[in-house]
Amino acid sequence: MDYLIRGMDKGRNYRIFAVRTTNIVETARINHDTWPIATAALGRVLTGALLLGANLKGEDLITLRVIGDGPLGAIVVSANSYGEVRGYVHEPHVDLPRKVEGKLPVGDAVGIGTFSVTRDLGLKTPFVGSVQLVSGEIAEDITHYLHKSEQSASAVALGVFVDKEGKVMSAGGFWLEILPGADEELIGQIEKRLSELPPVSSIIGSGATPEEIAAMVTGDNSLSFLGETPVVFKCSCHREKVKSILYSLGKPEIISISQEKGYAEVRCHFCGEKYHFEQKELEVLIEEIG
Ligand SMILES: [Zn+2]
Repeated sequence: MDYLIRGMDKGRNYRIFAVRTTNIVETARINHDTWPIATAALGRVLTGALLLGANLKGEDLITLRVIGDGPLGAIVVSANSYGEVRGYVHEPHVDLPRKVEGKLPVGDAVGIGTFSVTRDLGLKTPFVGSVQLVSGEIAEDITHYLHKSEQSASAVALGVFVDKEGKVMSAGGFWLEILPGADEELIGQIEKRLSELPPVSSIIGSGATPEEIAAMVTGDNSLSFLGETPVVFKCSCHREKVKSILYSLGKPEIISISQEKGYAEVRCHFCGEKYHFEQKELEVLIEEIG
């Protein structure tokens, strides 16, 4: 099961969020048929959105947009307070030569561009923050964004590990945020730890739970955890909504689809879910339009 934890040290020097997203990224891979580089890129953004959305409440919504000039095109992900996340990458079928053995060239595939975050907190205007991409590797871009746009001193790490067939073996990440007035000596120790830490995908790949990741990152085994949230790849689309889109095509169009193909298939752009409508259902729809 994928879940997210929120933790804090006893001295209230920092907060840490950690999440495992293996099932989420694998679901996204299957739904969107992403190849490894796109799987890693989308997986990191999905994971990042859950981390940045860890404090959302009620109907709050957070949307991350990575708009680079590389072959992947735009990556758009949104998460809500219920631990539901969805998203897509514009071009799922991208392959590039590996410069470093065993490392997917996500930054090259994303390219140069902008990273933006929209926090829709139920106010009249959502809060939008935007920065230039620093590397396209996503975690660095999020860290940079938090520093520049939200004045938060943070460390973010995201990892997606795929096997030879492209299946997601492990995925997850953490967000460590230093709180104002934190003990500088302690922060120095944590920074040193972070610089020596193995890649987060290998930590997750080793089977570490989010709690264990938090302890590993901070070196503190007595963190207090403020509950855990199950997280899942889930979209707000549903059959009735899709039906109304079909409806809006108009009678002649539905008749021609029904006659030519004998069925209709509508795919949700955001989550990749396919909705199939049999000829019988199309006929009912045609009759309903009248
Ligand atoms: Zn959908």
